[in-house]
Amino acid sequence: MEIDAAREVRTTCPYCGVGCGVLAKVAADGQVSVRGDPDHPANFGRLCSKGSALAETIDLDGRLLHPEIDGRCVRWDEALDRVASTFSQTIAEHGPDSVAFYVSGQLLTEDYYVANKLMKGFVGSANIDTNSRLCMASSVAGHRRAFGSDTVPGTYEDLELADLIVLVGSNLAWCHPVLYQRIAAAREERPEMKIVLVDPRRTMTADIADMHLAIAPDGDVALFTGLLAYLGQHNALDRAYITEHTTGFGQALFAASNLDLAGVAEATGLSEDELGRFYSLFARTEKTVTVYSQGVNQSSSGTDKVNAIINCHLATGRIGKPGAGPFSVTGQPNAMGGREVGGMANMLAAHMEIENPAHRARVRRFWNAPDIADKPGLKAVDMFKAVADGRIKALWIMATNPVDSMPDADAVEAAIKACPFVVVSDVLASTDTVRHAHVRLPATAWGEKDGTVTNSERRISRQRAFLPAPGEARPDWWIVAEVARLMGFGEGFAHATPAEIFAEHAALSAYENDGARDFDIGAYAGIDAEEYDALAPFQWPEKDGQAARSPSARFFANGNFYTPDGKARFIPIRPVAETRTDENFPLILNTGRVRDHWHTMTRTGKSPRLSQHIAEPFVEIHPADAQHFGIGDADIVRISSPRGEVLVRALVTSRQRQGSLFAPMHWTDQFAAKGRLDALTASLTDPVSGQPALKHVAVRIEKFAAKAFGFAVMRQRPVPVAATYWAVAKCRGGWRVELAFADDDIDWAGFAAALFGASPDMLAYHDRDAGQHRIAAFDGERLAGALFVAPGPVAVSRGWAAEQLEETHAGQRERFRIVAGRAGAERPDAGATVCSCFSVGANQIAAAVAAGCTTVASIGETLKAGTNCGSCRAEIRAIIEARRVQAAE
Ligand code: SF4
Repeated sequence: MEIDAAREVRTTCPYCGVGCGVLAKVAADGQVSVRGDPDHPANFGRLCSKGSALAETIDLDGRLLHPEIDGRCVRWDEALDRVASTFSQTIAEHGPDSVAFYVSGQLLTEDYYVANKLMKGFVGSANIDTNSRLCMASSVAGHRRAFGSDTVPGTYEDLELADLIVLVGSNLAWCHPVLYQRIAAAREERPEMKIVLVDPRRTMTADIADMHLAIAPDGDVALFTGLLAYLGQHNALDRAYITEHTTGFGQALFAASNLDLAGVAEATGLSEDELGRFYSLFARTEKTVTVYSQGVNQSSSGTDKVNAIINCHLATGRIGKPGAGPFSVTGQPNAMGGREVGGMANMLAAHMEIENPAHRARVRRFWNAPDIADKPGLKAVDMFKAVADGRIKALWIMATNPVDSMPDADAVEAAIKACPFVVVSDVLASTDTVRHAHVRLPATAWGEKDGTVTNSERRISRQRAFLPAPGEARPDWWIVAEVARLMGFGEGFAHATPAEIFAEHAALSAYENDGARDFDIGAYAGIDAEEYDALAPFQWPEKDGQAARSPSARFFANGNFYTPDGKARFIPIRPVAETRTDENFPLILNTGRVRDHWHTMTRTGKSPRLSQHIAEPFVEIHPADAQHFGIGDADIVRISSPRGEVLVRALVTSRQRQGSLFAPMHWTDQFAAKGRLDALTASLTDPVSGQPALKHVAVRIEKFAAKAFGFAVMRQRPVPVAATYWAVAKCRGGWRVELAFADDDIDWAGFAAALFGASPDMLAYHDRDAGQHRIAAFDGERLAGALFVAPGPVAVSRGWAAEQLEETHAGQRERFRIVAGRAGAERPDAGATVCSCFSVGANQIAAAVAAGCTTVASIGETLKAGTNCGSCRAEIRAIIEARRVQAAE
């Protein structure tokens, strides 16, 4: 591929479902830079910290560049032949349901389309499921129950037009930061806009909330069922909408009226006063949007939560109107594209239904397929159970890391290890999943591949290549199509470009579609390579250049649902009280994300900037619980469930609800000794959607009795680390490692040499009585590594220590300063990184507040913090507020 150094390439961010437009540029020296695309309707030029750091994540370190069989580099034809022949043989011997694909919301739509086509239309099984099952399957199921289709009714603009935004189980500030910024900007223009946050934790999103309802885990069904009853009792219904456009209202209201306000208070852990204020605000605010994401979806009652929310919007007619509607935001960059191609086990392509014989016949006809799956396949959790018990004998995992992200992850890992034949297509040579593959296929990464993605508001955007494919990496669609050809299905997979696949996908969406299906992009069925190359972001439905069913970009303001009678269905919901804790596992663990990392860190873990905000796995615990369990701030703790355990750092904070813990899901065996959080979670799923309940796990916590703690910086990545607890993170000059040891009878000089290499040029300080050891090794004038050991959490400034890797240390004075573990007085400790873009720490912000800065804007003027991507503004405001409270005490 020719690189045009002068040209900025329009592409799309590969992280969350906001789907921001990115302008990427390769300079003459090969340096890549990115900025937000000012013309993209999702972000209008904004990017969050992750998007802003994309250029730091595209190096070739750790890339899988050649096909491998059993660890041996092979030619593509040999690898493809092994995959095709083993799948064909397995199908011949054991039937089509003995094989499976586990794919990903990180795939592009074109990749997803051919994978789904091969499995459902040509293999004849629906055993293709996706990590999107873990993300938003309950939203899909809720939409289909209520609307008859998986339709997101609203648009991002509604978030700016609303007078009330209810955020349910959604830490928008960290997980969908650009949407958070759009809401924050709209609120600044219209201060009368109200925001309610429903979340067990006081997350950073609470920063813009007028009301934070610290709901009990999984209390959402009761909250919204109670709201429906309240709307009925307070004459806040849109009777005309209910009558003309819905069915089942009476049953839904009857089910809701079983729960009085006291019952709702008990089920939600909220006071009747809090409930009354929220219900009254909702009832009187016509322009209301309810935004929900993983806190709703990742639950054993996720589908009921979705329908309880939708019931309230149908009852008030607040759907599909400017500034009003239920709004599911997806976690993944292409969860929506996956839904469009039917990439889940219980869907067919182009929003058709696998259970519907007419739909199956239509898709088979269109594909000219020899076969078509005639029943839903195994959803993710059941798929890995079938791998474990031997029903699935050949498994192909594409662009995802189930050993870390699936619930009951140790059991999933054991199943993959025992599977007779495992293929993994990935960009990295070493992930916790790739290491178990018999065949490894090198896939192209973001920046190297071409295709489309669909964001949470149904907007389809191009991802465009601006870098050449490295080594022998190939696009996922090409890999799947080649295997299909070798399996004897060449005619159905003769696509030469992603443009041809997109055109076929668009044609299928319009095929025999008389308006009975929502997804219709028939306007693009004849798209050619040039038009595809120039394709601007567009929002479906778009047929013949105009909206197919709806007069606007929104759905359902005037009914026209995709049910047989065209009416939406109210779903009667009855909250079910559930207790998962017991005396052995007395706490509820909630899992989620942090601001600057993404999924299993295969990309963000490469960025020094992103790795500084939070550099190790942690658990948030309420001060009262911490005291009860004898845990101090920064202790290492063991969290256990009946399935496994992790070792993480304790963060004691009153933001956390008492009785609950929160820990992030990003850390893997590549980054920490024992940080795979999904080793704790259960394979308990929602009965309708099959989505796992990742946010409500009974656990216990105990202090890990560390005899010694350590912190080290080094130029080279350390492998392996001989410590009970370790967590490694990239920093600007190399790597930093947090350490804790069960034993302190250790030869520290030997440990340091193993960590960053033996050097004749070493300085050491040992105070054995105090348990203090500091060792620095030099390579010429450069620091090769430094280790700091103490009997408690090491107090050395992390930022300062990491900076030493980039500086020269010619004189003894500078060298002794490292071993002393202290920056000079002229180098105050910046503290934990808050602003990743400008590397501004918490201590610097606190000092600026003490010096008179009282607003986020004035901090920006003084330190630049918060003036680029804005993802840290909520944290800056929290520091200002904390200082204000301190000063008042
Ligand atoms: S909000 Fe951030 S992570 Fe999400 S798409 Fe935009 S830039 Fe990417």
